[in-house]
Amino acid sequence: MATNGKKATAGHQVAWVFDLNKCIGCQTCSVACKVLWNEGDEGSEHMWWMTVNTQPGKGTPKDWESMGGGYSNGELQLGKLPTAEEFGGGWDYNYDEVLHGGKGRSVHLQKIAGSKTWGPNWDEDEGGGEWPNAYFFYLPRLCNHCTDASCLEACPVGALVKREEDGLVLRNEDVCEGNQLCAAACPYKKIYFNAPRGVSQQCIGCFPRIEKGVAPACVRQCPGRAAFVGFIDDETSLVHRLVNQWKVAVPLHPEYGTKPNVFYVPPLAPAPLNPDGSANENADRIPPQYLESLFGKDVHGALANLKAELAKKRRGEASEVMDALILYEWKDALGPFSKDPAELVWK
Ligand code: SF4
Ligand code: SF4
Repeated sequence: MATNGKKATAGHQVAWVFDLNKCIGCQTCSVACKVLWNEGDEGSEHMWWMTVNTQPGKGTPKDWESMGGGYSNGELQLGKLPTAEEFGGGWDYNYDEVLHGGKGRSVHLQKIAGSKTWGPNWDEDEGGGEWPNAYFFYLPRLCNHCTDASCLEACPVGALVKREEDGLVLRNEDVCEGNQLCAAACPYKKIYFNAPRGVSQQCIGCFPRIEKGVAPACVRQCPGRAAFVGFIDDETSLVHRLVNQWKVAVPLHPEYGTKPNVFYVPPLAPAPLNPDGSANENADRIPPQYLESLFGKDVHGALANLKAELAKKRRGEASEVMDALILYEWKDALGPFSKDPAELVWK
């Protein structure tokens, strides 16, 4: 395997936390990112660096969790390269025929031939479980700016770097040769290919904003107050406290071995119903095994910690954790990146 074999470290590490109990799946983060970084840029039409999928679901690209990559026993793995069809995209309807075709009620809206068979949010709100105990939740996903970034090690020409000052994994597009080994090695399948330019591309962590003390667009624009950002190595930061001190946030698929820097407060759900319609307070609506398959064994501790803090609040006791998650002051979610982008002079 022709890779550069290099690992990289950083002095500081920007990290994200998404509270899955507060994410409402509105896609504001996805759209904020799209509009800011890849709208109207030829070759990036299909790119959604930020995506929010419904779980359980096949996600974006379709069935990405079965595509491989990351590390196994410390060895770099090259997985599958997602196809354009697996990434999917929008599709068109027969608007002209229905609205201007003069056929009245004899025709109805339908997808036109040649439309995509999958899209970034194809299985939205389908979820899992059986009525009346169905469940679903939303999972915002972006590049994890991993501590052990397999994309970086896989690149044979050294186009990817992990920045010392913030740990963001960035690409030098002048060096990138578009061989897509990075995309094969990324287990989260968060790298896209820009065919006209012949380069791979992924989330840049909004580094021009980070450098000016402005939070990434996905965090700042989140109306659900579900997203947090900060330096994970800063012990006073909310991201550090949520992950390392209070232990209520866990990474997605830690078994992939890349040490991701996006963390999730796992979802709770109402108690499932017994056949007579009463609530079964001793059972979980979302199967804990399912959550373990996503977030690893630590998810059980995170859920227990979360439930204990919730119980405190319900008893009228103080809970620093719940107060942090409720986020009375939305700017508290932005850590050291609380500057208003509208007040800055961008050059
Ligand atoms: S903007 Fe916030 S609430 Fe909306 S989908 Fe994204 S993370 Fe969830
Ligand atoms: S999520 Fe993928 S693209 Fe992003 S740093 Fe990790 S391995 Fe690289």
